[in-house]
Amino acid sequence: MLITKLKNKEELSALFEKRPFVIKCFGCKEVYFPENEVEALLKENETKITGVVRLDYLCREEFSKLYMEKYGLKIKDSGSVIVFSCGVGVQVIAKLCPEKGVFAGCDTYYLDGFQGLSVQNVNCEQCGECYLNYTGGICPITACSKSLLNGQCGGAKNGKCEVSPEMDCGWELIYKRLKGLKIEETMKGSKVLLRNYKRVIDEKKKYDYSD
Ligand code: SF4
Ligand code: SF4
Repeated sequence: MLITKLKNKEELSALFEKRPFVIKCFGCKEVYFPENEVEALLKENETKITGVVRLDYLCREEFSKLYMEKYGLKIKDSGSVIVFSCGVGVQVIAKLCPEKGVFAGCDTYYLDGFQGLSVQNVNCEQCGECYLNYTGGICPITACSKSLLNGQCGGAKNGKCEVSPEMDCGWELIYKRLKGLKIEETMKGSKVLLRNYKRVIDEKKKYDYSD
């Protein structure tokens, strides 16, 4: 299980300036999805968005692929996509929309139990401070063996990770993705955000049902 919480107002306001198409995932009820807050936010920004859909189980790539085919034209005409879901859902949509900036509307926090409908090709460690909006929708925590937020470490060879040569270097993937979107310059001088691990612990306590 996990908790999805809306990102801070400042970050969300900037996302709505990109003429987004909005996707809400209502797949699993166990994620404490902030339904009313999302609705209020969308109402507030209704003139800035090109469309809104509510979909189930974005984490299931087969479903999401079909959804993206259905809404492809709408997305093509939009400036970006905002996804309100856990980190897995955002990554799946980013993978399926290589030519569009895909952004996370929520932070994902850890809670005991399962996540998502099936085993994923992408993963989310539920770190509580989602970085997908800086990394083109590829998670630096799970795609990089060292979970670096300021990669690349310098050890990659031929695009493969120095820790696990069978896996692609996550930070090369991030760079290529940003380059494909023509925003690779955003990597230059970007702030290294320090993570506040206590945030995850505090949040989990609010939902803890065990003694
Ligand atoms: S940065 Fe990665 S681990 Fe953290 S919430 Fe986003 S997808 Fe999950
Ligand atoms: S080679 Fe790439 S994926 Fe591997 S630890 Fe270094 S930055 Fe991370």
